[in-house]
Amino acid sequence: SRKPWVGGNWKCNGTKASVDALIKTLNESDVPDKTKCDVIVAPSHIFLTHVLSTINPRFVVSAQDCNQFGNGAYTGSHSPQMLKDCGITTVIIGHSERRDVFRETDEEIGQKIALALKEGFDVVPCIGEHLAERQAGKTNDVLFPQMKAIAANVKPEEWSRVVIAYEPVWAIGTGVVATPQQAQDTQKDLREWIAKNVSEEVAKSVRIVYGGSVNGANSSELSSQPDVDGFLVGGASLKPEFATIVKNIA
Ligand code: 13P
Repeated sequence: SRKPWVGGNWKCNGTKASVDALIKTLNESDVPDKTKCDVIVAPSHIFLTHVLSTINPRFVVSAQDCNQFGNGAYTGSHSPQMLKDCGITTVIIGHSERRDVFRETDEEIGQKIALALKEGFDVVPCIGEHLAERQAGKTNDVLFPQMKAIAANVKPEEWSRVVIAYEPVWAIGTGVVATPQQAQDTQKDLREWIAKNVSEEVAKSVRIVYGGSVNGANSSELSSQPDVDGFLVGGASLKPEFATIVKNIA
């Protein structure tokens, strides 16, 4: 069976003081140990090294993005190589905010995944449909091409370092969480796509987590679904509630 995985995506939030307060809360929380559940926190790049040096090593510190180029004349971006040099081992790639606000394409996201994996990272590629696409019955027509662009950049032996985050865009930051059935049905379809297009073995072992308005109250029922292996949490990851979500699943 797959080990639960819970990530806290802090997005572009926080001050030095609020980050310290959150680290203190997490360090004092009695979340289950690493053998029971992988727990990741993803602060803004500017706080990464500070969080890494002060948070309990029970928590993995992740970047929210990396570039697809490496080091060089790429003003404002962060290469996987420099993240690695700073001790970061995990990176979220292709979040819907990167896709929609920063106009990242499937092709760029694929390049980022390939480079991050080559540099040894655990990667968390994100996919998700917009409301109009779901309402038009086109959810899988959106998700499957996104999956294809991801899978094309993962070598067979690299799949153990991939966690797929399914985050319906209409559920992100809206308070409108997917129903457990919606999350289950969609993630089951994704797993079947992987079985058909990657391998049965990868489909069985890869973690697929849900993101979008997850909180301490709705996480238990969602995580009881067989194809929901955990969560990528936004808003609630900035609060003590994040520990509740971890405890509910582990
Ligand atoms: P919210 O939990 O705030 O809806 O955000 C989800 C998300 O985008 C995590 O990456």
